[in-house]
Amino acid sequence: MSFQAPKGTFDWMPPRSERVLAVRDALSAPARRAGYGYIETPAFEDTGLFSRGVGESTDIVTKEMYTFVDKGGRSITLRPEGTASVVRAVLEHGLPGGPLPVKLWYSGSYYRYERAQKGRYRHFSQVGAEAIGTEDPAVDAELIVLAVDGYAALGLTGVRLLLNSLGCAECRPAYRAALQDFLRGLDLDEQTRQRIEINPLRVLDDKRPEVQAQLAGAPLVTDHLCGACKAYHEEVRTLLTAAGVTYTDDPRLVRGLDYYTRTTFEFLHDGLGSQSAVGGGGRYDGLSEMIGGPPLPSVGWALGVDRTVLAMEAEGLFDAQPATVDVFAVPLGEEARRAVFGLVVALRRAGLSADMAFGGRGVKGAMKAADRSGARFALILGDRDLAAGAVQVKDLTTAEQTAVPIAEVADVLKGKLS
Ligand code: AMP
Repeated sequence: MSFQAPKGTFDWMPPRSERVLAVRDALSAPARRAGYGYIETPAFEDTGLFSRGVGESTDIVTKEMYTFVDKGGRSITLRPEGTASVVRAVLEHGLPGGPLPVKLWYSGSYYRYERAQKGRYRHFSQVGAEAIGTEDPAVDAELIVLAVDGYAALGLTGVRLLLNSLGCAECRPAYRAALQDFLRGLDLDEQTRQRIEINPLRVLDDKRPEVQAQLAGAPLVTDHLCGACKAYHEEVRTLLTAAGVTYTDDPRLVRGLDYYTRTTFEFLHDGLGSQSAVGGGGRYDGLSEMIGGPPLPSVGWALGVDRTVLAMEAEGLFDAQPATVDVFAVPLGEEARRAVFGLVVALRRAGLSADMAFGGRGVKGAMKAADRSGARFALILGDRDLAAGAVQVKDLTTAEQTAVPIAEVADVLKGKLS
């Protein structure tokens, strides 16, 4: 019997999987430098956290959650996103009683039962950051700048930022009513008509051309913002511009989760086809209360790791074959094998990345393995070298070979590699 990864999932395998690690590191580094602490929450939560926190009417909750009853009879859901868990943890640990904002970053796997296609998977990976407990346009701007800097550090030039404000509890109801009035007059299917009553903003996000065509004259949230929301949004925009961030105002931008208020944003990449969002986020001032906490105005983002790798590949930003190690050692004979093992252990302890030929294959096979490893240097050790206390250091790019005393090889290699 043979198995394959479940539908909608795939394996990241070496050497390409190195790109995943590089992306995770680069996307989280700016947040770490800005004082965001690392949080790790369980991959599953009580189902109610998501149905309340993400929103009963969202596609994520109605169609996409991996929900099951565990052996204790609890309804459990594999996390479809990170924010609800982070806010749950912050409340559970009493952090709102301390200094605010609580700034946290995370990285992990998320699960949505989606229609699988390129860039849209049932298991995917995100890096996220949240600033919890503060209403300050500078925090919104900080987070957006951190994401922009993460993409830039990866060398990406094709990431576009869309920006909008969704208003607040003051001004959103009037906008919602105006939008509902407009939408009720359109020719829409039954399911979409129901959505008008539950979550009309989501209708704006409907990607079907026949729906989009009818939305041309829809009222825009930006025309309905209250004075406070307008001023808040203006300040976010001013701070972004001052930080050199370019963005496009998109008054139609709404997001798939119900909890967003005020600032919302999305990062798009045009090299990805239909699944063009590489990241997104926004302010979610009401989420804490939705899950039983005190008012905690907050803002955050989640950046898709898999799609960011695809975007980088679309821009040709990776070497054809990344090196796995700097040094690859090849023993010629049994006695040399033991010495090479010791040498490789010593090189690694000295901070070099080193591998060796295993499995007792011949010299030809071992040299092929050295080439395939992408290493800069091969170390070749035969019985005669061993007797002389030396090892042959072969530069695999120039094929130049020199004998180096075994005791000095770590320092010599470090010098050559630096
Ligand atoms: P969201 O929480 O839906 O805004 O997701 C944030 C980011 O995660 C998106 O911009 C994508 O880059 C990524 N993402 C979301 N869903 C998926 C998925 N099903 N497969 C791959 N990446 C995803």
